[in-house]
Amino acid sequence: MNNENNVLGQKHASRVSRLAIASCCLALLPWMLFFCGYLCPVPLTVGRLLISVSSPLSVIIGISALVLIKYRRPRLRGKMLAIAGIAISIASIAFYLVAVWNLNRLIYRPMDEVNACRSNMSELHASLESYAANHNGLLPAGPNWCDELLQENDELAAIFVCPYSDGKSGQSSYALNKHVAGQKLSDLPRDTVLLFETAAGWNQVGGAELVTTDNHSLITGGHCNVILARGGTPNLPSNRIHEFRWKP
Ligand SMILES: [Zn+2]
Repeated sequence: MNNENNVLGQKHASRVSRLAIASCCLALLPWMLFFCGYLCPVPLTVGRLLISVSSPLSVIIGISALVLIKYRRPRLRGKMLAIAGIAISIASIAFYLVAVWNLNRLIYRPMDEVNACRSNMSELHASLESYAANHNGLLPAGPNWCDELLQENDELAAIFVCPYSDGKSGQSSYALNKHVAGQKLSDLPRDTVLLFETAAGWNQVGGAELVTTDNHSLITGGHCNVILARGGTPNLPSNRIHEFRWKP
């Protein structure tokens, strides 16, 4: 709070316009949410709603603040604050209009597909457990493992393909670890790889040499999802594939 003399020599307290402060806060709100999103993912719809509501509101309030400041000088301050609020909001709206569809394409859609891929692998893990339960605890021996799982449950056909791969219906983006083929599931160390992502094919059995990281290259620069004996679906980039437990 500072004081200025008016023309009559009387002292009037000057204060920062509350409208200018509100304009600036509303302008920054979507960006604060955006940075918080790194710690706690925010749904895209919430981000869109905030930018489309708070930014135009910030512009309107900022312009109102500038008008009031003009007529109530010197008792009302905050011109630069109001201008900053308006500028940030206009930049936010421009960012939204120009970039949001690219962000959607580059970040959100691939994230959904990574989750869908993991979901596929979790379902395949459940079907391997079911297969083992019906075959004295043993996993498929290898050469026909996709066909054998399908024979037990024909609804699995739709989940053999990673949504972000080039695989077509009737193919599988996943291969069986050759070191666990025909083994007793309950005897395997819980962190042993059962299935991993590979180039599209069918009934593929192999090891780290068949791994592909191409299906998920947009976000992380390339990683491979695997399913472990215990059911977890971790992933690693190509240079760390050897860190998985391939041999029981
Ligand atoms: Zn995948």
